[in-house]
Amino acid sequence: MLKYYIYTYGCQMNYSDTERMQTYLEALGYAQSQDPKQADLIFYNSCSVRQKAEDRVFGELKNTRKIRKKNPKLIVAITGCMVRKSSSRYSQSRDPLFNRSPDLDIALRIEELPRLAALIRELHKDYPIQEIPEEQTENYFDIQAAHSSGAQAFVPISTGCDKFCTYCIVPYSRGREKSRPIPEIICECEDLVDKGYKEITLIGQTVDSYGLSKYDQDHGTFKDLPEGEIPFVYLLKQLDPLHKKGLKRLRFTSPHPRDISDQLIKAIANLSTLMPFLHLPVQAGHNDLLKRMNRPYKIEEYKDIIRRLREHTPDISISTDIIVGFCGETQEEFQAVCDLFREIEFDHAYLAQYSSRPGTAATRFMDDDISQETKRERWHILNNILKEVSAKRLTRFVGRTIEVLVESHEGGICTGKSEHSRIVNFPGSASLIGEIVPVKITGSEVWTLEGELV
Ligand code: SF4
Repeated sequence: MLKYYIYTYGCQMNYSDTERMQTYLEALGYAQSQDPKQADLIFYNSCSVRQKAEDRVFGELKNTRKIRKKNPKLIVAITGCMVRKSSSRYSQSRDPLFNRSPDLDIALRIEELPRLAALIRELHKDYPIQEIPEEQTENYFDIQAAHSSGAQAFVPISTGCDKFCTYCIVPYSRGREKSRPIPEIICECEDLVDKGYKEITLIGQTVDSYGLSKYDQDHGTFKDLPEGEIPFVYLLKQLDPLHKKGLKRLRFTSPHPRDISDQLIKAIANLSTLMPFLHLPVQAGHNDLLKRMNRPYKIEEYKDIIRRLREHTPDISISTDIIVGFCGETQEEFQAVCDLFREIEFDHAYLAQYSSRPGTAATRFMDDDISQETKRERWHILNNILKEVSAKRLTRFVGRTIEVLVESHEGGICTGKSEHSRIVNFPGSASLIGEIVPVKITGSEVWTLEGELV
C-alpha cells in the first residue's frame, strides 16, 4: 500500500488543512506513515511567516534525497503559504519554488487540493492511485477533515485575506478572502458535536470579516441574512444552540481589530458557548508604525475595543501578536508598544522579530533597516514585560475552581486549557484526556497554572 507523511509548519490554518489533506490522500489510496523514510509521498505544508520557517523546509527537502535513492518513485510535494502556482516538475508553467529546489516534484495551492491526483499523473502516468469522482472533491471544503483529537476540532470558516498588511504574504499565497456558506459550517459543527467533540475553534485569517469580503458581496452568499445582522455574529448565534447537544466551548481565531463590532463584544459576553478569551492581534503600539504596516486602526481605537470587551466581560483574558523591529521602528515607536503592554496587561502574546518576506509590500518598498541585534534586544525587553504581566494576570485564578479540557498527559501530570485558554497542569490519569474536569488552582507560574482535581 502507498504511504504518505506530512510535515506541518505554522499556524492553525495549516494544521486544519493537513487534516483535510489526510482525508484526500486516504481516498486516493494512501495510508499514513509514522516515518518519512517509509513514505511514497512526502508533503510539506509550509509556512512563510518567517525566513526561518522557509529555510527549514528547504533543509528538509534536501533530506529526501536519501529516501529517493531507496524509493525512486517517491513524490515530494509542497503546499501552504510558500506556493504560488499548482504545478508539477513537468508542468509548462511552474511555481518559482522549482527553481530553488531540485528535490521538489509537486507544488500545490491548498485550495486546489483536488488537483493533486492530476499532478501525480503528470509525473507518473500509471501511478496506482484511486479515482475519486470529481464532484466529491470539487469544493475544497467538501473534503472532510481527519480530526486528530476526539475532543477538539478546528473548523475553517474562510480562506484568504483582503487586508494586505505590508509585512504579510498571506493575501498573495492564499488569495482573496472567501467565506464558507453558513449551512456548510453548521453541518460540519453538528457532525463534530454528534461525534462527541466538546470544543470547536472557528478559524480564518480574519474571522470577524466573515461574509464581508468583496468576493462574498459579489457572490451574494450572505444576501438573505436578517436585516442588521453581522455575518460572523449571526454564525456564532446559529452555532450557540449546539451547547444543548454537548458543545462546551466555541472559540475563534484570529479576528482583526478593524472588524470588531459591538454585536461581537456582546456575543462574547452573552452566548453560552463562547469563552471569556480573545486573541486580538495588535502588531504594534504606535500609530505611525501601524500605518506603515497598513493596519487600518489607531492604537486609541484598539484600546477602546479592549475597554469595551472588559466592560462586558470583566474577567476576559486577552492575548495578542506583536512584531518588533519592523522597517524603520524608532526607539519611540518601540517604547510605545512596551507602554501598551503595561497598560493593557495582556494575558499572553506571540512576539516575533520582523523578517522580510519576498513579494510583500514591505520588502518591495521599505528598508529592513533594524539590525538583528536591535531586533533581538527589543524582543527580550518586551518578553520580560510580558512575563511580568502574564504572571500577574495568572494570580487571579489562584484559589478558584475552574474547568479544564485535558489535552495531554506525561509523568502523571495532566495538561489542559482553561476556559480563559490558560495552560493548567495537575496530577491525574491519562484517561482524562479529552475530558473537561474541575480543577482547584493552587498556584501560578509565569505562563501556567498548577492545581488539583476536585
Ligand atoms: S490580516 Fe494582515 S497579517 Fe493577517 S493574514 Fe491578512 S494580511 Fe496577513
